Amino acid sequence: MRLVILGPPGAGKGTQAAFITDDYNIPHVSTGEILRDNVVRRTALGRQASQIMNRGDLVPDGVINDMVAQRLAEPDTANGFLLDGYPRTVNQAQALDALLAERSTPLDVVLRFVVALEQAEPRILGRGEGRGDDAAAAVKRRFEEYNNKTKPLEGFYAQRGLVRDVDAVGSVEEVRERVAKVLSGVEVGS
Ligand code: ADP
Repeated sequence: MRLVILGPPGAGKGTQAAFITDDYNIPHVSTGEILRDNVVRRTALGRQASQIMNRGDLVPDGVINDMVAQRLAEPDTANGFLLDGYPRTVNQAQALDALLAERSTPLDVVLRFVVALEQAEPRILGRGEGRGDDAAAAVKRRFEEYNNKTKPLEGFYAQRGLVRDVDAVGSVEEVRERVAKVLSGVEVGS
Protein backbone atom coordinates (compact mmCIF):
# COMPACT_ATOMS: atom_id res chain seq x y z
CA MET A 1 0.00 0.00 0.00
CA ARG A 2 1.43 3.34 -1.05
CA LEU A 3 -0.52 6.26 0.29
CA VAL A 4 -0.45 9.95 1.01
CA ILE A 5 -2.51 11.53 3.75
CA LEU A 6 -3.68 15.09 3.28
CA GLY A 7 -5.40 17.39 5.73
CA PRO A 8 -4.93 20.62 7.63
CA PRO A 9 -2.79 20.89 10.76
CA GLY A 10 -4.77 19.47 13.68
CA ALA A 11 -6.74 17.00 11.55
CA GLY A 12 -5.33 14.04 13.47
CA LYS A 13 -3.19 12.73 10.63
CA GLY A 14 -0.30 11.63 12.84
CA THR A 15 -2.56 9.64 15.17
CA GLN A 16 -4.30 7.81 12.34
CA ALA A 17 -1.02 7.34 10.44
CA ALA A 18 0.28 5.26 13.34
CA PHE A 19 -2.71 2.89 13.08
CA ILE A 20 -2.46 2.59 9.30
CA THR A 21 1.27 1.86 9.29
CA ASP A 22 0.68 -0.81 11.92
CA ASP A 23 -2.19 -2.43 10.06
CA TYR A 24 -0.42 -2.47 6.69
CA ASN A 25 3.10 -2.99 7.99
CA ILE A 26 4.55 -0.03 6.13
CA PRO A 27 6.85 2.77 7.30
CA HIS A 28 5.43 6.11 8.40
CA VAL A 29 7.31 8.76 6.47
CA SER A 30 6.59 12.10 8.15
CA THR A 31 8.58 15.02 6.76
CA GLY A 32 7.82 17.04 9.91
CA GLU A 33 9.30 14.24 12.04
CA ILE A 34 12.41 13.88 9.88
CA LEU A 35 12.94 17.64 10.03
CA ARG A 36 12.45 17.79 13.80
CA ASP A 37 14.93 14.95 14.21
CA ASN A 38 17.45 16.92 12.15
CA VAL A 39 16.85 20.00 14.28
CA VAL A 40 17.51 18.01 17.47
CA ARG A 41 20.67 16.48 16.01
CA ARG A 42 21.79 19.92 14.78
CA THR A 43 22.58 18.69 11.29
CA ALA A 44 23.11 21.19 8.46
CA LEU A 45 19.56 20.49 7.31
CA GLY A 46 18.23 20.99 10.84
CA ARG A 47 19.99 24.31 11.24
CA GLN A 48 18.62 25.46 7.90
CA ALA A 49 15.06 24.36 8.68
CA SER A 50 14.57 25.29 12.31
CA GLN A 51 13.82 29.01 11.93
CA ILE A 52 11.58 28.39 8.95
CA MET A 53 9.61 25.80 10.92
CA ASN A 54 9.31 28.03 13.97
CA ARG A 55 7.70 30.69 11.83
CA GLY A 56 5.23 28.18 10.39
CA ASP A 57 6.62 28.68 6.89
CA LEU A 58 7.41 25.88 4.48
CA VAL A 59 10.94 24.57 4.02
CA PRO A 60 12.03 25.03 0.37
CA ASP A 61 10.74 22.37 -2.05
CA GLY A 62 14.18 21.33 -3.29
CA VAL A 63 15.37 20.52 0.22
CA ILE A 64 12.27 18.53 1.05
CA ASN A 65 12.15 16.68 -2.27
CA ASP A 66 15.76 15.49 -1.82
CA MET A 67 15.04 14.46 1.75
CA VAL A 68 12.03 12.36 0.72
CA ALA A 69 13.82 10.81 -2.27
CA GLN A 70 16.52 9.66 0.13
CA ARG A 71 14.01 8.26 2.59
CA LEU A 72 12.05 6.38 -0.08
CA ALA A 73 15.28 4.81 -1.31
CA GLU A 74 15.53 2.88 1.98
CA PRO A 75 14.72 -0.84 1.62
CA ASP A 76 11.85 -0.75 4.15
CA THR A 77 9.65 1.04 1.58
CA ALA A 78 9.59 -2.01 -0.73
CA ASN A 79 6.25 -3.07 0.77
CA GLY A 80 4.80 0.45 0.52
CA PHE A 81 4.80 3.59 2.62
CA LEU A 82 2.60 6.22 4.15
CA LEU A 83 3.56 9.82 3.42
CA ASP A 84 2.44 12.30 6.07
CA GLY A 85 3.17 16.01 5.59
CA TYR A 86 4.39 15.44 2.04
CA PRO A 87 3.68 16.54 -0.61
CA ARG A 88 2.64 19.97 0.61
CA THR A 89 2.96 21.93 -2.64
CA VAL A 90 2.18 21.19 -6.28
CA ASN A 91 5.92 21.27 -7.00
CA GLN A 92 6.46 18.56 -4.38
CA ALA A 93 3.61 16.47 -5.82
CA GLN A 94 5.19 16.66 -9.26
CA ALA A 95 8.59 15.67 -7.88
CA LEU A 96 6.98 12.72 -6.07
CA ASP A 97 5.21 11.69 -9.27
CA ALA A 98 8.45 11.71 -11.22
CA LEU A 99 10.21 9.70 -8.52
CA LEU A 100 7.47 7.08 -8.29
CA ALA A 101 7.12 6.84 -12.08
CA GLU A 102 10.83 6.11 -12.30
CA ARG A 103 10.39 3.24 -9.86
CA SER A 104 7.09 2.11 -11.43
CA THR A 105 5.47 2.33 -7.99
CA PRO A 106 2.53 4.73 -8.34
CA LEU A 107 0.37 5.85 -5.41
CA ASP A 108 -2.61 3.66 -4.56
CA VAL A 109 -4.63 6.27 -2.71
CA VAL A 110 -4.66 9.77 -1.28
CA LEU A 111 -6.61 9.94 1.97
CA ARG A 112 -8.06 13.35 2.58
CA PHE A 113 -8.92 14.17 6.19
CA VAL A 114 -11.87 16.49 6.11
CA VAL A 115 -12.21 18.93 8.99
CA ALA A 116 -13.21 22.58 9.01
CA LEU A 117 -10.34 24.90 9.88
CA GLU A 118 -12.43 26.28 12.76
CA GLN A 119 -12.44 22.77 14.25
CA ALA A 120 -8.78 21.98 13.62
CA GLU A 121 -7.32 25.20 14.96
CA PRO A 122 -8.47 24.80 18.60
CA ARG A 123 -7.05 21.24 18.60
CA ILE A 124 -3.60 22.62 17.85
CA LEU A 125 -3.89 25.48 20.27
CA GLY A 126 -5.13 22.98 22.86
CA ARG A 127 -2.09 20.75 22.52
CA GLY A 128 0.07 23.67 23.58
CA GLU A 129 1.65 24.56 20.26
CA GLY A 130 -0.12 27.88 20.20
CA ARG A 131 0.94 29.26 23.55
CA GLY A 132 2.61 32.62 23.39
CA ASP A 133 2.29 35.24 20.68
CA ASP A 134 4.98 33.85 18.39
CA ALA A 135 3.59 30.35 18.56
CA ALA A 136 0.04 31.56 17.90
CA ALA A 137 1.30 33.49 14.87
CA ALA A 138 3.10 30.36 13.62
CA VAL A 139 -0.08 28.29 13.92
CA LYS A 140 -1.98 30.93 11.97
CA ARG A 141 0.78 30.93 9.37
CA ARG A 142 0.61 27.12 9.03
CA PHE A 143 -3.09 27.33 8.26
CA GLU A 144 -2.44 30.01 5.65
CA GLU A 145 0.28 27.89 4.07
CA TYR A 146 -2.10 24.94 4.02
CA ASN A 147 -4.86 26.90 2.31
CA ASN A 148 -2.60 28.61 -0.20
CA LYS A 149 -0.17 25.86 -1.11
CA THR A 150 -1.47 22.47 0.00
CA LYS A 151 -5.21 22.68 -0.74
CA PRO A 152 -4.55 22.87 -4.50
CA LEU A 153 -3.12 19.33 -4.25
CA GLU A 154 -6.59 17.99 -3.59
CA GLY A 155 -7.54 18.94 -7.15
CA PHE A 156 -4.26 17.62 -8.52
CA TYR A 157 -4.93 14.14 -7.11
CA ALA A 158 -8.72 14.22 -7.55
CA GLN A 159 -8.21 14.57 -11.30
CA ARG A 160 -6.67 11.11 -11.27
CA GLY A 161 -9.37 9.62 -9.10
CA LEU A 162 -6.97 8.94 -6.23
CA VAL A 163 -8.68 10.91 -3.47
CA ARG A 164 -10.81 9.24 -0.77
CA ASP A 165 -12.39 11.44 1.87
CA VAL A 166 -12.45 10.64 5.57
CA ASP A 167 -14.58 12.66 7.95
CA ALA A 168 -11.98 13.58 10.59
CA VAL A 169 -14.46 14.95 13.13
CA GLY A 170 -15.15 12.49 15.92
CA SER A 171 -13.27 10.36 18.43
CA VAL A 172 -9.93 8.75 17.56
CA GLU A 173 -11.70 5.36 17.44
CA GLU A 174 -14.49 6.62 15.19
CA VAL A 175 -12.06 8.13 12.73
CA ARG A 176 -9.95 4.98 12.87
CA GLU A 177 -12.94 2.88 11.82
CA ARG A 178 -13.75 5.24 8.95
CA VAL A 179 -10.16 5.07 7.73
CA ALA A 180 -10.11 1.28 7.91
CA LYS A 181 -13.35 1.08 5.94
CA VAL A 182 -12.09 3.40 3.21
CA LEU A 183 -8.75 1.60 2.91
CA SER A 184 -10.36 -1.84 2.76
CA GLY A 185 -11.95 -0.73 -0.51
CA VAL A 186 -8.69 0.40 -2.09
CA GLU A 187 -7.16 -1.81 -4.73
CA VAL A 188 -3.45 -2.08 -4.12
CA GLY A 189 -1.13 -2.16 -7.11
CA SER A 190 2.14 -3.99 -7.26
P1 ADP B 1 1.85 19.70 11.28
O1 ADP B 1 2.05 19.81 12.76
O2 ADP B 1 1.18 20.88 10.68
O3 ADP B 1 1.26 18.39 10.86
P2 ADP B 1 4.45 18.80 10.38
O4 ADP B 1 4.88 18.15 11.64
O5 ADP B 1 4.11 17.95 9.22
O6 ADP B 1 3.29 19.85 10.64
O7 ADP B 1 5.63 19.82 9.90
C1 ADP B 1 6.15 20.81 10.76
C2 ADP B 1 6.86 21.89 9.92
O8 ADP B 1 7.90 21.28 9.13
C3 ADP B 1 5.99 22.61 8.90
O9 ADP B 1 5.28 23.67 9.47
C4 ADP B 1 7.03 23.06 7.87
O10 ADP B 1 7.76 24.19 8.33
C5 ADP B 1 8.00 21.90 7.84
N1 ADP B 1 7.60 20.90 6.80
C6 ADP B 1 7.16 19.64 7.02
N2 ADP B 1 6.87 19.02 5.86
C7 ADP B 1 7.13 19.92 4.88
C8 ADP B 1 7.02 19.90 3.47
N3 ADP B 1 6.56 18.81 2.81
N4 ADP B 1 7.37 21.01 2.78
C9 ADP B 1 7.82 22.09 3.40
N5 ADP B 1 7.94 22.20 4.73
C10 ADP B 1 7.60 21.13 5.47
